[in-house]
Parts: sequence; C-alpha cells; structure tokens
Amino acid sequence: MSEQAYPYEAPASQALFDRAEAVTPGGVNSPVRAFRAVGGTPRFMVSGTGPYLTDADGREYVDLVCSWGPMILGHGHPEVIAAVQEAVARGTSFGTPGEGEVALAEEMVARVAPLEQVRLVSSGTEATMSAIRLARGFTRRTKVIKFAGCYHGHVDSLLAAAGSGVATFALPDTPGVTGAQAGDTIVLPYNDLEAVRAAFAAHPGEIACVITEASPGNMGVVPPLPGFNQGLKDLCAANGALFVSDEVMTGFRTSRAGWYGVEGVEPDLMTFGKVMGGGFPAAAFGGRADVMAHLAPAGPVYQAGTLSGNPVATAAGLAQLRLLDDAAYEKVDAVSEQIQRLVTEALSKEGVAHTLQTASNMFSVFFTDRPVTNYEEAKAQESFRFTAFFHSMLANGVYLPPSSFESWFVSTAHDERAVQRIADALPAAARAAAEATA
Ligand SMILES: *Cc1c(COP(=O)(O)O)cnc(C)c1O
Repeated sequence: MSEQAYPYEAPASQALFDRAEAVTPGGVNSPVRAFRAVGGTPRFMVSGTGPYLTDADGREYVDLVCSWGPMILGHGHPEVIAAVQEAVARGTSFGTPGEGEVALAEEMVARVAPLEQVRLVSSGTEATMSAIRLARGFTRRTKVIKFAGCYHGHVDSLLAAAGSGVATFALPDTPGVTGAQAGDTIVLPYNDLEAVRAAFAAHPGEIACVITEASPGNMGVVPPLPGFNQGLKDLCAANGALFVSDEVMTGFRTSRAGWYGVEGVEPDLMTFGKVMGGGFPAAAFGGRADVMAHLAPAGPVYQAGTLSGNPVATAAGLAQLRLLDDAAYEKVDAVSEQIQRLVTEALSKEGVAHTLQTASNMFSVFFTDRPVTNYEEAKAQESFRFTAFFHSMLANGVYLPPSSFESWFVSTAHDERAVQRIADALPAAARAAAEATA
C-alpha cells in the first residue's frame, strides 16, 4: 500500500494498538478488528452515541458496522441503557434462574413461529456449537453439511470452509482443528442444491444436519436463491436430518422474526446472537420442542453455562427487542435503501464495476459487475478497490467494516445528518476505488 492510501494518522489509536500488541495476540480480541485486510491503524473507540462512534483521537465517525449488527437502535439508546442500569442495580449474576431470561425467551418464541423452546447462551459460537451437538445427539448421526463462505462462529468442526467440489471432505482450515473434528464436516458450495442432494446420496443415514446462514452475511451479503432454503429443508426432511438455520446475524435484524420472517421456511433448529443481546453477550439456540427435549436436564445431551441468561444481558436484549416494532424495521429498511442508493450512484458515476447485494436492511458492495451467489464468486471481486474506498471513507468520517467480505449495518438512529455525512464522503471514496490498482 502506498502512503497516501492512509490519508491521516491516528496517533492515540496507534499508541493503544502498540500497548495492545504487547499483551494480546495481534493487538485485538477478534481478528477482523485488526484491519489486516485493509491495512492501517485500527481505530480504538472510546464512545458511541446514536449512529456515531468517537475514537481515541477524538474523531467522530458515522458507524456502518453497529458492532457487527447488534446495535440496531444505535449506540446508547436511552431505554436500553435504563433497563441495563435498573438490572445492574439489582445485582449482576446469581447463578440461579431469574425472570429476565424467561421474559426474553418468551419474547423470542412469540416472534419466531418455529421457535418452540430456546436455551440461552453467551455467544453465537456457543449457540451453533450446541445446536450441532444437539442435532447429533438427537439423530445419533455424526456428519454435518455446511457451506463454503458461511461463518458459524469459531466452532472446531465448523471452521472447515475449504473446498467447493461436490461432497468434499474438508481439511481443517486452521491449525488446532484436528482432522477428526473437521472430517465429519462436509463443505459444499452455497446455493447449490444438487451438491447437497449428491452428499445425502453419498452418505445415506450418516448426516445429522445441514447448517446454513439463513441469509449469508459473512462472505459479504449473498442471499439464498429462490427455493434454496426450502430445498435444504425438504432434503433434510426426506433424509432424516435436521435443518439448522443460523440466524445469529439475521435474527431480529432482517425483520421482526429475522430471515424466517422474510422467507417463511421453517427450520428444525435455529441459532441467535447479536441483536438479541442488545450489545451484551447473550445468544440462543432453539426450535422444535421434541428436539429441544433432548437437552439436559430434560434429556441426555449436555449443555451448560455459568453466565447463561445473565440478568444484565437479558435485560438489555429484552429492552431492545421490545423497542423493535414494525415502525423500527421500516425505519432501518428505509435508511438502508437510502444509503444503498447513494453508494450505487457514487460508484456508477466514477465507472467502478460493482454489485450491491441486499438481504432486507443488510447490504454489501462487491467490486465486480457480476452477481455473487457463492464464496468462489465473492473471492473473485477486486478487493483492492475496497481497500482504497474504505480508507477514503474512514478519512472522511465514515466507519465501514474493515473487509470486503462483511455486511454493512445500519440502525434506527441513522438520521438525515448521518446520511448526509455518508453522501459527502462517497464521491472521493468512489474516485479512490476507480483509481486503485492491484
Ligand atoms: C457472528 C456470527 C456467529 C458467531 O457469533 P459470536 O457471538 O461472534 O460467537 C455465528 N453465526 C453467524 C451467522 C454470525 O454472523
């Protein structure tokens, strides 16, 4: 990268990053935060208000990451903060059951029809890990089908993402995941029902479940083609396997009832996180009551958590969900469309080949003129153009996800002023993308 690609310095963030690197691998607690895909100094944020973040150098940004989705009401929503303060004042963890976790579960079950019962956990990773264990315990089968480019947290068996051939037995994608852990995972190309059909045919009676992102947002936004999710459900039902829909990202974001609310395909099991925690570590898995009945202490499949159903986290999540009525989703959808239009106009004006893809209010830009339907196609984009685009936006006060393989997120707090700031930043960023070289 040339120096002018980083149009300004961030000395206070850099000083914090130097300190962080001494005590934390790579200086971060989650890899994408380190800006490795785009280069430059990761911004250390000190506060968030509504649609804005302020970094350690005192610069304000319009936030289009929203903590990777959870902050759908913007930062520091007064009613969520009040619910948290009220909960904190009563004590922060009891290690006993409490009403807050029941109320949150009731709210979720009321919104999402296939969700008959839920178990609360603390992260999306825990949710998918536990759902897979339950699916295996319920079916007494070992193999799991997942799709290349779908992320389900850092669960050992689900980190296998390599290989887009038919019924490829995955090799571990990361050191530390053993061949045995990855060997029961079958990785298939996304949106390819024929590959799923072939995998079921090749492994009769062996496949416990198919897990998929309800609408993928972890390879950029790549929605399911019409009939894909229904096809997965039908193939699972025909072969005695469970259909597991990972709604950690889409749940309570893409509609009141998440992606299920958009498409209406009924999974056997579902996973949640992000929005349902209101900015705190709360996540969940759930679904058919007869399947959930196999979970301890009702059944033999063990699963537990010291901080599961934490009273502060559940208070935040419940307050956030209760504020997410139809009007809130209309607002998020409308502002998302407005920003989408501005991005497309700016890039088109500079003649930059791009494809903007959406899943209700989630969207991302691929720097290619072809539609993207799977991970291979996502990887074929000109990511170097995103790097230039990203740094120009950052320099002009707009915080995008620091990778071209991530969804952009907006909130009800993104108002006219925030949208105008984005509109003002876009022309220079589009020009930077046009002028970028590999
Ligand atoms: C974020 C995410 C996860 C992992 O959730 P964590 O809380 O980060 O562990 C799992 N699945 C999907 C679809 C996600 O977007």
